[in-house]
Amino acid sequence: MGAMTSGQVRCEHCGQVNRVPAAAAGTPRCGKCHQPLPWIADADDTTFAEVADAAKVPVIVDLWAPWCGPCRMVSPALEQLARDLAGQVKLVKVNVDESPRISQRFEAQAIPTLLVLRGGQVAARQTGAAPLPALRAWVDKALATATP
Ligand SMILES: [Zn+2]
Repeated sequence: MGAMTSGQVRCEHCGQVNRVPAAAAGTPRCGKCHQPLPWIADADDTTFAEVADAAKVPVIVDLWAPWCGPCRMVSPALEQLARDLAGQVKLVKVNVDESPRISQRFEAQAIPTLLVLRGGQVAARQTGAAPLPALRAWVDKALATATP
């Protein structure tokens, strides 16, 4: 861990497989049809500033751990949100066991702890798992209030 991760994302519009970096100046778009791609990245103590704080779009932070059952339930819902809101948000997943400083910074005493960050500032916070519609409403509200 500690290295920047990047993933392969299949475009839902044209099927093209794109490589999406963990951090970038803009938001990722499909190389073929130029539609926005879902942006899902991992971060830890070393990469969080670059991957999450410096992002130009609102960031949904998922503070999770491998042993946490509710985390495993909420992660797919968050990934669905990242697909639904492609181009508008970035999802950053942080394993708190491997990221003690990030865990401490956000006082993640219970997990999952979910945050919406804008320019490194916490715009919204939620502790505990929730079903997709509730998460969607929570993120929509955070984006509405966080937009200048
Ligand atoms: Zn495409």
